[in-house]
Amino acid sequence: MESNNKILEIKSRILDFFLSSSNLTQAKFLTMLQSILKEELKAKSVTVTMEEFSPIYDQLKVRELGAVYQKTLETEGSDFGYINLPLYGDKDFLGAVELQFTSSLPLSLESFDELSKELSTIFQQYSQYIHTRFEEKQYEELYKVTSKFHSSMRVEGILTEIIEILRNTYEDFSYLLLLTSDNDDLQHLPVKKLDFDDSNISAMNAYVTGEVQLENCIRDRRTYIYVPIKGEQGIYGVLQIISLDSFNLPEKELKFITLLANATGTALENAQLYEQSKQVISDLQLINETSHQLNSNLRLQEVTAYMIKKIMHFFEAKEAAFVLYKSGGTEVLPGSTEFFQQEDIGIYLSQMQDYVYSDGEPLFIGDLRVHERLSNLPFCSCMIIPMHASNGIKGACVVTHTLPYFFSFEQFKLLQSLIHHSTLAFSNSMLREELEKYVITDYLTKLYSRKYLDEKIKKSMKHDSYGTFILLDIDDFKRVNDTFGHQIGDTILMQVASIINASIRETDIGARWGGEELAIYLPKIDLALGEHIAGRIIKKIEEQTSPAVTVSCGLSFWKKGLNDSARDLFHRADFALLKAKDLGKNQLCIESEEYCG
Ligand code: GH3
Ligand code: MG
Ligand code: MG
Repeated sequence: MESNNKILEIKSRILDFFLSSSNLTQAKFLTMLQSILKEELKAKSVTVTMEEFSPIYDQLKVRELGAVYQKTLETEGSDFGYINLPLYGDKDFLGAVELQFTSSLPLSLESFDELSKELSTIFQQYSQYIHTRFEEKQYEELYKVTSKFHSSMRVEGILTEIIEILRNTYEDFSYLLLLTSDNDDLQHLPVKKLDFDDSNISAMNAYVTGEVQLENCIRDRRTYIYVPIKGEQGIYGVLQIISLDSFNLPEKELKFITLLANATGTALENAQLYEQSKQVISDLQLINETSHQLNSNLRLQEVTAYMIKKIMHFFEAKEAAFVLYKSGGTEVLPGSTEFFQQEDIGIYLSQMQDYVYSDGEPLFIGDLRVHERLSNLPFCSCMIIPMHASNGIKGACVVTHTLPYFFSFEQFKLLQSLIHHSTLAFSNSMLREELEKYVITDYLTKLYSRKYLDEKIKKSMKHDSYGTFILLDIDDFKRVNDTFGHQIGDTILMQVASIINASIRETDIGARWGGEELAIYLPKIDLALGEHIAGRIIKKIEEQTSPAVTVSCGLSFWKKGLNDSARDLFHRADFALLKAKDLGKNQLCIESEEYCG
C-alpha cells in the first residue's frame, strides 16, 4: 500500500511537471525525472540513459544528456546498492534508470517492477510528444518557407532561406546546393554548379531521374543524400546532404526534405520565369519606344545618335556604329561611338563590308580572335546586323565589346529585331536628306532649301554690291519637342517659317538651313537695315508663336571690294549665332566683315 502511494506520488509529480511546462526539452525532462526520483525514493544518485529516438536526434540527445551525466558524477562516491529499471516501449527498449542507494531500499522489488512499467509508459508518451513536436516544427518551417517563397522573386533570398531551414532542422548535417544555373553572385552560400561532366554519379542520377539518391560511403562512414530540386517544368539542381555518420534516413524525414526541395524548385522556377518575363517586357519596351521615336521625322544624324545611345545602354556595349555602304565607299554615320569615328577605320570597315556583302546574314561572334575573316578588329565580342532596304543592303549596325562572349544570344536576337524595326526610319531619313539637296523648297516649312539659298547668295555676291545674311536657331527646341512632342515641334517650325516669310520681300530668301536652324538672305540690304529686320523678326517670333518659342540670330554682312566668299559669310553668321546663344539666347549678334580677320 505504502509502495503504491509512492509510485502514485511519483507519477503525479511527473504529470504535474508535464502539464506546467510549455516547452519540454529532453534535458528538462530528464533533469526533472532525475530529481523527482531522487527525492521521492531518497536515492543517492539517479542516472537516466535513453536509447535513440531516431538517428536525427542523435547529437541532440548526447548533448542534452551531458548535463545529467555530470550531475551523477558529482554525487558519485560511496557505493551501496544499485537498482536498474529498464524502460521499454511496445517493441523496443527505450532506456534505463539506474538508482543508487546508501540505505535500505525504499520499495519492494515487485514495486520497482511496477515503477519500471509506469516509467516506461511515461517514456513512451514523452517520446511520442518529442516526435510530434519535432514534426510540427518541421511543417511549421515548411509552411513559413513556402509562403515566403511565394512572395520572393530573388534567387538569393530563396536559397538563403532553404539553407537556413535545413541548418535549423537538422543541424548535424552539412548541405550543398548543386544548381544548373550560374551562381557567381552566390559565393557566400553553399552553392556549386552542377557540372554535367561531374564525376559525382549519384548527384547526376538524382538530376536525371528526378529521384532521391542515397549513397552510403563505408570508407568515410558518411551518408550522402541527393534530393532533386524540382519545379513544375524542370529540375533546377540537386540538394546534397552529408551526414556525419552512416545511417538510413527515416521515411518521414525524407518526405520532409523532398517537400522542401520541391518548394525550392518551384520558387526558383518562379523567380526564373519572372526574370524572363521582365526581360521580354523590357525588350518590347525598347522596340516600341525606338519605333515610336524613329517614326517622328528625325533627321538622319538624330536617328543614329538616338539608336546608338539606346544600344550602348541596353546592350552595355563598348562601341557601336552605323555604317552606310555607298557607291563611293563606306561612311560611318555621325553619332557612332569614338572608335568608329577614327581616321584610319577604313580597313576594318571594308573588311566588314566584304563580309556583309558576301552572305548578308547577321553575324554573332563570341571571340573575334579566332574568326579568320574579321580578326583585325580590336574587340572580342561582335554583332553585325546588316540593314536591308528595298533596293539592297544599305549598311550595317556594328556592336562590340572587348570581353569575349559578352553578349547573349537573346541580346543578338533583340538587336536584330531592333535594327529590323529601324531600317525603314533610316532609309526614310536618308532619302529625305538626299531629296532635300535637290528640291528647292523644304517640304515642312515651305522655305527654300539650303542648296537653293547657296546658289542665290553666290549669284548675288557676283552681281550685287552688298547683302546681309541672318542665321536663326530656335532656342531650346529640344525641350519644346520633349515637352509637346515632335508634331507640335513641327507646327512651331512652320509658324516661325511663316513669320519669316511675312517679314521679308519677294526678292529675299528665307531658307531651311537644317533642322531647327533657318536662314535669311537679304540682297542689297545694308548692315543697319539688316539688323533692324532681324530684330523685328526676333520680336515677332517671341510674340506670335504658340506654344511660344524664341530664336537666337547671328548676322553677317558683305560688301564688294573685300575678298569675301559665301563660305566666310556663313561662317561669320554661325560664329555670331553661337555668341548670341552664349549671351543668353533670344537675341541678335553681329559679325560683319569689318570685324573679321
Ligand atoms: P539651343 O537653344 O542651344 O539651340 O537648344 P536646342 O535644344 O534648340 O538645340 P539642340 O541642337 O540640342 O536640339 C535641336 C532640336 O531640334 C533637336 C531636334 O529634335 C529638333 N529638330 C530638328 N529638326 C526638327 C524638325 O524638323 N522637327 C521637329 N519637331 N524638331 C526638330
Ligand atoms: Mg540647332
Ligand atoms: Mg536650337
